[in-house]
Amino acid sequence: MSKSGKHADIQWREDGQPLSLAYDDIYFSTASGLEETRYVFLQQNALAERWATLPENATFTIGETGFGTGLNFLAAWELWQKTAPKSAQLHFVSVEKFPLHPQDLQRALALWPQLQAYSQPLIEAYPPLLAEGIHRLQFGPVKLTLIIGEASRALDSLRLQQEKRDRYIDTWFLDGFAPAKNPDMWTEELFTNMSHLSRPGATFATFTCAGLVKRGLREAGFALRKVPGFGSKREMLCGTLEQLHDCQQHSTPWHLPCTEAQHPQSATVIGGGISGATIARALAERGVQVQIIERGPAPGSGGSGNDQGILYGKLSPKPGPNGDFNLHALMFAQRFYKQHCPRLAHFNGLLQLAQSDREKLLQEQIAASLAEHQGQNLARMVTREEACQLAGVDLPFDGLYFPNAGWLEPQKVCAALLEHRNITRYQGRAVESLTRQDDKWLLRTEGKEIETEAVILCGANDIRSFAPAAALPLRPIRGQVSRVHATEVSAKLKIALCGEGYITPAHEGCQSFGATFKLKETATELRESEHKENLQTLAELLPHFAEEFSSQDFNGRAALRAATPDYLPVAGPIPDWESLNNTYASLRKNRKLFIPEHSGYQAGLYVMGGLGSRGFTYAPLTAELLASWIMGGPLPVSSDLAKALHPARFAIRNLGKNR
Ligand code: SAM
Repeated sequence: MSKSGKHADIQWREDGQPLSLAYDDIYFSTASGLEETRYVFLQQNALAERWATLPENATFTIGETGFGTGLNFLAAWELWQKTAPKSAQLHFVSVEKFPLHPQDLQRALALWPQLQAYSQPLIEAYPPLLAEGIHRLQFGPVKLTLIIGEASRALDSLRLQQEKRDRYIDTWFLDGFAPAKNPDMWTEELFTNMSHLSRPGATFATFTCAGLVKRGLREAGFALRKVPGFGSKREMLCGTLEQLHDCQQHSTPWHLPCTEAQHPQSATVIGGGISGATIARALAERGVQVQIIERGPAPGSGGSGNDQGILYGKLSPKPGPNGDFNLHALMFAQRFYKQHCPRLAHFNGLLQLAQSDREKLLQEQIAASLAEHQGQNLARMVTREEACQLAGVDLPFDGLYFPNAGWLEPQKVCAALLEHRNITRYQGRAVESLTRQDDKWLLRTEGKEIETEAVILCGANDIRSFAPAAALPLRPIRGQVSRVHATEVSAKLKIALCGEGYITPAHEGCQSFGATFKLKETATELRESEHKENLQTLAELLPHFAEEFSSQDFNGRAALRAATPDYLPVAGPIPDWESLNNTYASLRKNRKLFIPEHSGYQAGLYVMGGLGSRGFTYAPLTAELLASWIMGGPLPVSSDLAKALHPARFAIRNLGKNR
């Protein structure tokens, strides 16, 4: 689990306003915080005027230092709703070192009943724990990327994600406590990073006129204007970025963008499972015309086609890419399905049972770490007695309880995500070839040729059958799920259970449990031997269920998933393999060598795959990451995670090991 910061230490004053004890400063003007926000940040950045004239499908990005109570975000969202075109998107990127405790956030926002339509969804989506890092929240056309961490460092990590690519911030809200009380935030590094992330002509506004702020902003290339301050404040600052400075590169850039984002207007997704469905949806919501081609008869015909699937993440008590990705992917997925297909997401809880002492110890460490960071909403330890009560059936183990996880209906979820005006579905059709011609990709399917600006390969094990992606080390894993009629006893199971295997509550009179895991096997016929294996695994978890089921005829489904050697997905642009091997050949001799050149990507070609057996948990955040690669703007995960999911990572590791 990631390192965490601390919650803000708040004192509630007699007039009901929050005061920061650490900084001895107020969060907003005691006269009227909302009016101050509107005057200082919205009006002085001329947002109403700029938003009214935005083109269709435009994205406008605000950067903020100090998220605090989120008042600035909510006021901006409200104005956006009133002034911007319906097809445009607002992205609010905010950094916060000491996030408010959820209860303090709720109390602070109760001060503004007029913003309730906006504050309520924020309160509901506010990250349940203080994991340092990036949290992306989505509210229809408005996105919030909340970065928990120190402002200068957080902006530096955003800049490092981009290197020479996009500048995407249109406007800065330079908040944060007064420079006299918080000199550590207003650093030269902060101003320089602001300038590197800003589009030409980006504006800023800040309540302060302090000398160090003026100097820092001027040196970073901003032209400044002093205007009257709000209320009793004499002056404040606003201005525009006029001079662009080049930024220094620090690391070998194989995992970074090498050109500006492509912003295609149309794209073709190959594969209609949960990867294809989530990336198609993420692009469609950004205004891209998407066609999706699925070889099966309907979306979710392959690995995403079981009757029931569980939403579950494998957390870890130690920091590291697998545990961190599972944590962030699970939090994102819980919100995502509730927003996009609430009726198909049965998130009434999930129990991960501790089937061994070792597993129990691990779970206790995870639960302790979550509790320390107010993450009990994500998962907490429960005793065997409590587990039995939650599950509605007798259970032999203690376990880790995920109150907001559960199970979903995979095929229907895929179909529901593809219901969008910008998505066209083709099914029962295989893509036979993929070739690059001039600056377009040419797909051949059923004798027809389709020209497209961008291609996203999402077909699990089919991905490698396309020559440009053949170098990706995706491996098939056969999995068979068993399905039986629910019995009087088994129908009492209320929530999904997992341990060595998993079982879901009865649905339409049947119950699913499984699944087998057969690495590198590609056959998909049903096997009696694997039903037996599933029954045996179930017997360890729920012996009385296994006994009852054993007399039934088993049904079920076997399908293939695709996994990578490190069991993390691959998501991003597909490298130009030959150039990569040439450019970075010296890594064979010294894997830590700094090589400043970028080896480049195959233009307009992307991949999302290797989600293994956690496709429904991983897909929403992975798709959000890939959509950010394709369309620009800040990534929804840390640079380390983006690197851990990058399609070039295997080739780079091989070079480092001189393979
Ligand atoms: N914009 C906020 C709102 O709408 O409620 C008010 C911001 S409040 C005046 C200042 C915020 O900046 C506090 O939440 C504080 O924790 C945060 N902050 C202070 N120093 C920081 C730093 N170095 N990095 C990130 N956040 C910081």
